[in-house]
Order: sequence, then structure tokens, then C-alpha cells
Amino acid sequence: MIKNFINGQWVASTATDKVDIVNPANREILDHTPLGNSADVDAAVQSAQAAYPAWRQTPVIDRVQPLFRLKTLMEAAADDLARQITLEHGKTLAEAMGSVRRGIQMVETACGMPTMMMGDILEDIAPGIDSQSVRRPMGVFAAIAPFNFPAMVPMWFWPFGIAAGNTFVVKPSERVPLTQMRIFELMQQAGLPDGVLNMVHGGKETVDSLCTHPDIKGISFVGSTPVAKHVYVTSATAGKRVQSLGGAKNYMVVMPDAVMDKAADTALESIIGCAGERCMAGSVIISVGEDSKREIAERITARARAIRIGDGQLPNTDMGPVISQESKDRIKGMIQRALDEGAELLVDGRDGVDELPGYFLKPTVLGNITPEMEIAREEVFGPVVMLAETPSLDAAIEWVNSSPYGNTTTLFTTSGAAARHFCYEVEPAMLGVNIGVPAPMAFFSFGGSKQSFFGDIRAHGKASVDFYTQSVVTIHRWIKDSSIW
Ligand code: NAD
Repeated sequence: MIKNFINGQWVASTATDKVDIVNPANREILDHTPLGNSADVDAAVQSAQAAYPAWRQTPVIDRVQPLFRLKTLMEAAADDLARQITLEHGKTLAEAMGSVRRGIQMVETACGMPTMMMGDILEDIAPGIDSQSVRRPMGVFAAIAPFNFPAMVPMWFWPFGIAAGNTFVVKPSERVPLTQMRIFELMQQAGLPDGVLNMVHGGKETVDSLCTHPDIKGISFVGSTPVAKHVYVTSATAGKRVQSLGGAKNYMVVMPDAVMDKAADTALESIIGCAGERCMAGSVIISVGEDSKREIAERITARARAIRIGDGQLPNTDMGPVISQESKDRIKGMIQRALDEGAELLVDGRDGVDELPGYFLKPTVLGNITPEMEIAREEVFGPVVMLAETPSLDAAIEWVNSSPYGNTTTLFTTSGAAARHFCYEVEPAMLGVNIGVPAPMAFFSFGGSKQSFFGDIRAHGKASVDFYTQSVVTIHRWIKDSSIW
């Protein structure tokens, strides 16, 4: 059974309930995650609370030194980290390495905290009176992560939180905790003081204990929309800051003037990369006009048939398994209901996969998708391409905006005017033009709109300084009361 990390030590959870950590490529049980309770959470929060006063007083240039060292240690361990991600999550080694790199970029960006958290000053707001505002850390923060990016998503948060002077508790996904544990070991090796960064394992009970713990100032959450909403409401009711990132339904629009080969490659990679288990994954490809639909359909079906599935550790694998049998059954159920609602089966990814050792699906391509179908509205989180057609760009924009989700959307075109109109009118908050996965980099901020994001302040980049600090304004008036000068 894996252990919690509290005050610089790996300690056993007091919980006895547990879940298996499974390699989804072959169903091998790698270890067990304890389903922690409020006692575990309290121990982690007490450790973070005790470490806070000294950490807050540590100059920011000293606080970022362990992060500089972590960057070097992560670079050296990048292959091992990628292998660990593939083992517990299933994505290919190349995909895993991409996410390790993104994690390292979070550390690099957080190392800029001495500049990022500078305040403002203005002399003479009134005669002889000056005013300054500083950004001050607040105490203990917590981050709660989903299964789909074991290294990267927790690192959207804690490097920024601790660099800003807070102490931290991380709860990784109970399904994929091993990679983040390895990164914590590297962070300890890098010389972070005990108690600054802590980890608790578990599921709902652990999450609810974090959201209601009186000594936690704020919660960063990433996961599905129903849980994101629950975390947002529970934490806000307990008086905390919350940034809660939820699920998605990401439409990709193809104009007749798009470079079709490139659009098809990019859209397919967006949809089936990481077996579709990305919040930024494309889903429905809405082609404007019949010709573009035909051109995209021909290319996508041919390319989808050529995708080689298998263990992500193997060099010839294009796509790994999905995370669990439950997930595979859910995706198959969505495909079947789409067919019952009138979708056309162009490529059947359910063919010949049940004999394989892991939770495999091949890419499925469905045609004749219409807006009212369940599969056109709800997140699939699996390798399913949906093809649809609208008569105009404005009709496509209307479809995009009718979704309750608002994570990302992309337009494929060679027209600047069309791109400008699209970006101006669509409601999602992370947009792409000829880009399949327009995920903001570490130095920009990440977060969607509508049911994809609950809160006001987004993840990483400059926004993280707003989230992890309190702005304090001081007004000074110094009265000359001596004759020394
Ligand atoms: P999930 O909501 O099942 O789990 C996320 C976290 O919440 C886990 O740590 C889990 O232990 C906890 N949790 C699960 N059920 C809970 C409950 N009832 N009460 C309290 N806590 C609970 O999500 P997942 O399946 O791990 O991840 C996939 C989802 O995450 C997808 O919907 C995906 O779109 C979303 N996601 C969103 C983003 C984003 O940036 N918006 C990024 C990555 C993933």
C-alpha cells in the first residue's frame, strides 16, 4: 500500500479501504492506494500549517532555489518519469514525455516568482502620502488532481503555490499516484524544507475533508464537471478560495479553404491522442459545407484505420489503452447509443479489442452527427471521432456556443477574416486556429468557461500569483518631527 507524505516522511495512512493501481495495458496490479480519511488530511494540514511561518519568512529568492534544483533533477529523471506515467496511465512514452516536459515548464515558470509577485507603489496619492500594495502568501493550499495527467496537472499548482510562500497538500488521483510520488521524492532531494509540501491519498472522503478543513485557505481542483461543481460549492461554502476545472466538449470547425491534409492529421491527433483522455481533446469535427465534410471524412477514416494500438511502452504503438474497464464500457455504451440515434458507423473501434490483455479500444469514426445526439453534447473521454456538417461558419459557431461546456475550440482555415470572426464570437476560453490542442503554456494561464471552469482565477502563469497570494495595500504618512534634517 502506498504511503502519504507528511512533514518530510512517507507515513502509512490510517485508512484500511484501498483501490488497486492498475497498468491498463495488461491489468497488472502495480500497488494499492489507501482511501484516506479526515485524520490523514488533518495530519497533512497540520504539517503544512507548522511549516508555514518559517517558509513565509524565507526570502522568495531562497524559496525558488529548490525549484531550480528540481528542474535539473526532473530533466535527469525524465525518461523514468515518462515510463512511470505510461505504466500507471497507459499513454504512449512520447505522450508521457510531452507531459513531463510540460511539468518541468511549470517549475521553470514558478522560478520567476521573485518578479511575478512584485507589488506596486505610488508616491503622493495625497500630499506627502505614499501607497504600496504587496502580494502576500496566505497559508495552506491544497490541489486535487484527475487521472489523465499524473505528472503535469498537480504541477499546474504546487510549484507556484510554494514559490509564492504558501505550504501545500496535494491529493493525486487514486488511480495514478505513483508518478507524483516520484516527483515529490525529487523535490525532497532538491532540499525543500519538511512540511512545505505534503501528499495525502484517497477519494471522495479525502477530497471532502480537504474542501472543509478550517486551516486550508484555498483549493485548486481538476476533474469531471459534477465533481468540479461539488468541490467549488463545498469549498466556497467553507470560506475558501477555489479554482475548479471541469470536463469539456471541444468542437473543431473546418472551413472549405482549410489545408485538408494538415487539418485531418491535426484534428485526428487531437481526438485520439492519449486515447482521447484529455480535457483539450477535440470531439465533433464540424465541417462547413458538403465538400469539406467529404474531404475530411475520407482522410480521417483512412488515417483512423491505420492507428496501431498497444502497450504504450512499445515503440510502434500509436495509441495506448483507456484507463479502466469501466471507462471502456462507458465509451462503448456512448457509441452504441449514438448508432441508435442515427449516427453512421464509418470505423468501428470496438472490433477485435476484447481479446487483448488491457482496456483497449481502436479509434471509432462516426458520421451523420447532429447536435441533439448525446454523443454530440457530452464528453466521451475516449478515442471517438464524430463528423458533422453545417451550411455556414455562423451555424457552426452557434453549435459551439450551444454547448454547456467551454474549454476549447479550434478553427481550421486559411482565412484571417474567418479566424478573427470565429475567435471573436465563440464562448470557450482557450481557442485554436489550425491548432489541435491549444493548451496554454506554463507562462500563460489555463482554464475554460461555463461548465468547464468554476471560479474566477485560472491556473498557472500570472493568474497563479493572484490565486496564491493576498494583495495587501498600505498607505504611509511620515510626519517630520525632529530637527535632525
Ligand atoms: P474525477 O472527477 O472522477 O476525479 C477527479 C478527482 O476528484 C480525483 O482526485 C478523485 O479522487 C476526486 N473525486 C472523484 N469523485 C469524487 C466525488 N464524488 N467527490 C469528491 N471527490 C471526488 O475525474 P477523472 O476521471 O479523474 O478525470 C477526468 C475528468 O477530468 C474529465 O472530465 C476531464 O475533462 C477532466 N479534466 C479537466 C481538465 C481541465 O483543465 N478542465 C484537465 C484534466 C482533466
